[in-house]
Amino acid sequence: MFATLSDRLTATFKSLRGKGRLSEADVDATIREIRRALLDADVALPVVRQFTSRIRERAVGIEVSQALNPAQQVVKIVNEELVGILGGETRRLRFAKNPPTVIMLAGLQGAGKTTLAGKLGRWLREQGHTPLLVASDLQRPNAVTQLEVVGQRAGVPVFAPERGVSEGQGVSGTSQGDPVQVARDGVAFARDKHHDVVIIDTAGRLGVDGELMQQAADIKAATSPDEVLFVVDAMIGQDAVTTAMAFMEGVGFTGVVLSKLDGDARGGAALSVVGVTGQPVMFASTGEKLEEFELFHPDRMASRILDMGDILTLIEQAEKAFDAEQAEKMAAKLAADEDFTLEDFLAQMAALKNMGSLKKMLGMLPGMGELREQLDNFDEREMDRVEAIIKSMTPLERRQPRVLNGSRRLRVAKGSGTQVSEVNTLIERFGEAQKMMRAMRRGGGMPGMPGMPG
Ligand code: GDP
Repeated sequence: MFATLSDRLTATFKSLRGKGRLSEADVDATIREIRRALLDADVALPVVRQFTSRIRERAVGIEVSQALNPAQQVVKIVNEELVGILGGETRRLRFAKNPPTVIMLAGLQGAGKTTLAGKLGRWLREQGHTPLLVASDLQRPNAVTQLEVVGQRAGVPVFAPERGVSEGQGVSGTSQGDPVQVARDGVAFARDKHHDVVIIDTAGRLGVDGELMQQAADIKAATSPDEVLFVVDAMIGQDAVTTAMAFMEGVGFTGVVLSKLDGDARGGAALSVVGVTGQPVMFASTGEKLEEFELFHPDRMASRILDMGDILTLIEQAEKAFDAEQAEKMAAKLAADEDFTLEDFLAQMAALKNMGSLKKMLGMLPGMGELREQLDNFDEREMDRVEAIIKSMTPLERRQPRVLNGSRRLRVAKGSGTQVSEVNTLIERFGEAQKMMRAMRRGGGMPGMPGMPG
């Protein structure tokens, strides 16, 4: 899902890593890349323009943040804009105060409406609702039967013309042949039989046409649906935008369902539909099976596109945990060419601890799957021991660990309740960290957070 777009954006951000500062040229190059990636992913041009101009506006005015380097800030901005373009907050179904809630499905033939009716019905049933599917697609010869099959698999009753809901359930069958009447009768039937949600499947044509639009508009007028969901096949590329506009004008809808997201490598069309119609994506259909269906969360989708695991949560936590005063001291130190000391090391460990369980934090990093085993072996208590060791040192020893001879090391080990070998290991590791800090200073990386992705 969105694989290509995701790959391209990730590559763009990778090229920014390690930059301490973004020049205007960097911003330009990044925006060009994002623009290309979006266009190649089939995102509609006006949406791309709007998106990139917002990114530029915000990237140019990037405030120097103490917790995030510029590259991370760009990722953050792109993510926020992506969430916005995907509709912002998760939009949930609106249920009617007086049941039944009427949900009408609209879209082209083959978009996945009938399949969606089953998925939605099953999903609602699992939440304790008593949905009814109504077969108002009388265009396609097999549509009614198909809905009945889907309904059966979903365990949801189907109201169909001619047949009624099933033999003898007392629908006066006047609706034969007229989709609008079937819809109206279906809703009346649901009210009568206490189905609290009605899902109306409507006819689609292969292309947009006036008659089809009129029929959908008539069904809408006759049933006053609480939600009209426009179902769109994410694989149809740029056509999705034209189709969406036609349905928006001809029928009007309150939400979008993206179907066949499983088969779509580009998916940009999906982003565009929200951008051009202003209606949110509410559900995503990701396969032919009834359970391959999910509530659409713009924020989660954006992280998936950016392939960031939960790195944004991590970034946010870093921002929160970051001790500004400590960071300023550190920055001043680095500027003054002073060395990173064990005292700084200790302060940083405290900051890291603020970020919550280290294990959990590492688990949020993308690509951490392979490291899971190592993570499982990671002992957070070791951090406490390191802390105890450093705290057992004198200020001089913390600033200049090289004075730590054998007898001093023994004293520190005793004082911290550890072994001399552990003290040795710590001093050795610290030496490495110090080297790293020197390298970072030269490379202009983010001070204060060794081990953070940067
Ligand atoms: P309708 O004409 O809008 O009612 O579309 P259908 O529900 O009949 O779906 C058309 C075809 O797309 C069927 O073969 C479905 O099995 C398939 N389909 C529907 N949703 C999905 C999906 O999310 N993923 C995949 N791979 N196929 C789907």
